Amino acid sequence: MLDGCGRTIDYLRLSVTDLCNYRCRYCMPEEGVCKRAHQDILSVEEIEEISRAAVACGVKKIRLTGGEPLVRRGILELCRRLRAISGLEELCLTTNGSLLPELARPLREAGVDRLNISLDTLRPGRFAQMTRLGQLSQVWQGIQAAENAGFQHLKLDTVLIGGFNDDETDDFLVLTQEHPWEVRFIELMPMGPCASWDKSCFVSADSILQRNSALQQIGSSGVARRYRLPGAPGTVGLISPMSHDFCGECRRIRVTADGKLKGCLHSREEIDLRGLHGWRLENAIRQGILQKPQRHHLAERPSDTPRNMNQIGG
Ligand code: SAM
Ligand code: SF4
Repeated sequence: MLDGCGRTIDYLRLSVTDLCNYRCRYCMPEEGVCKRAHQDILSVEEIEEISRAAVACGVKKIRLTGGEPLVRRGILELCRRLRAISGLEELCLTTNGSLLPELARPLREAGVDRLNISLDTLRPGRFAQMTRLGQLSQVWQGIQAAENAGFQHLKLDTVLIGGFNDDETDDFLVLTQEHPWEVRFIELMPMGPCASWDKSCFVSADSILQRNSALQQIGSSGVARRYRLPGAPGTVGLISPMSHDFCGECRRIRVTADGKLKGCLHSREEIDLRGLHGWRLENAIRQGILQKPQRHHLAERPSDTPRNMNQIGG
């Protein structure tokens, strides 16, 4: 369906948990988040019901996210239920990759079509430092497991952070020469723990283009501008929420793990979907779509949402 600004909204990002087995410094506090009571988080049945209603409102693609979606109990059952929704064209999942060694194949069998794997550095020491709890080798095993399970065109999502990984961009580009993956550089957004970080941490994705004149533009997909190095099997995506405001192209709505519909990642406005069923649920989703904010205001101030990214899902 169309929102109040005439944009087609057909993509739902669904957070299934706030919890995570990592503590990435820009995303989560070191102490993690308080585990919520079971009843404060949407059940698998509620998520399915909301998803069905969203598909009835025109959603064609759902992405499961978190926190880390693979730590959510019942994730495979949820994927099976969502995959069975008639009218849903694509079921995707964004993960830190650490649990893919065990779960890649079951996820594929449960009907997940595509995986995005977050990977901010190729250096083990830096990886441990940034994630506080993670090991890079686990993620590599996860990527391998995803390929073996039949996930094609993997996307690797790299948040660009000045002074942390902006000296590794050439190494990430080499991955696209060796593998049929899309490496996507995402600009860091000032929210949660990183809202107060120094300006120098916020690097424009265009710096990749300035350093690599060989990159050839091959179009765009969703909010990503896409490029390729000559002859490379893989591609490069630039996602620039800060330097190129892509709100005019946004097709997304979001639902948090506690059942709040968000028209925009950065807005405070939320609609509580819990306890709504049937036409009331659909009406609430339509209302959320119609009220989707026209744009974010990151150029002028940090994100308006009081939530950390792990409480929304990216
Ligand atoms: N745990 C999963 C993961 O890391 O892929 C899914 C949830 S995570 C919140 C989703 C994505 O948001 C990750 O790629 C993460 O790097 C990104 N992210 C988190 N905080 C961000 C920020 N402030 N700016 C830009 N991207 C951010
Ligand atoms: Fe966890 Fe993903 Fe946030 Fe890292 S970015 S702390 S993996 S939710």
